[in-house]
Amino acid sequence: MRLILLGKPGCGKGTQAKVLSGSLEIPAISTGDLIRAAIAEGSALGAKFESFIVEGHLVPDELVVALVRERLAKPDCVDGFMLDGFPRTVPQAEALTDILETMVQRLDVVVNIDVSDELLVERAEGRRTCKGCGASYHLKFAAPAQQGICDHCGSEDLYRRDDDRAEVVSKRLVEYREKTHPLIGYYHAQGLLVHIDGVGSLDAVEHRIEDALKNLS
Ligand code: AMP
Repeated sequence: MRLILLGKPGCGKGTQAKVLSGSLEIPAISTGDLIRAAIAEGSALGAKFESFIVEGHLVPDELVVALVRERLAKPDCVDGFMLDGFPRTVPQAEALTDILETMVQRLDVVVNIDVSDELLVERAEGRRTCKGCGASYHLKFAAPAQQGICDHCGSEDLYRRDDDRAEVVSKRLVEYREKTHPLIGYYHAQGLLVHIDGVGSLDAVEHRIEDALKNLS
């Protein structure tokens, strides 16, 4: 299966992608993670990315498209993949269609996770990310079993992402409305879009997505 998880920044795409990647046995590809990895490497490209991310802006299309092109060419994507956080603009969606055409593949479904702006601000406030493995927690809604310690890798470095600060979240929502929201109409017109209510527990949202995917065939 080849699918895209779409939604506002902080709607839970990343968390759902990681869980669904296991149950569907396809890799979850997060452009945010790819970008943060490039920054952590300390490369010149990483430094360029950092200046956009800390301001809450999108990275230029051509840079992120190049990352995705390289990632989709890896052997683990042959039987399917899930994209989390890509595409985020109509030109990125068009570039993805071109990439898939050259691979003689096409998308099966685009899942849009619906959440209100108010809830997103509250979620971003409490979100903590593991420095060791990238796992995501929430102080109120999804705390680790032992306070301050990652359930997955045991790291004691659970940090608050710079782009989870309230003013950056607001900027990201403005960018979302301008640049990413048009993708809903774009994929609806192609008959690929499915809407999922993103309010509720992680399990509840996961089951809604799994049910929607089952109903596709
Ligand atoms: P995320 O982890 O998906 O929330 O992404 C974190 C940040 O990485 C975003 O706020 C953007 O600055 C950048 N980013 C991630 N994916 C993309 C994309 N497809 N296009 C442009 N910028 C992106």
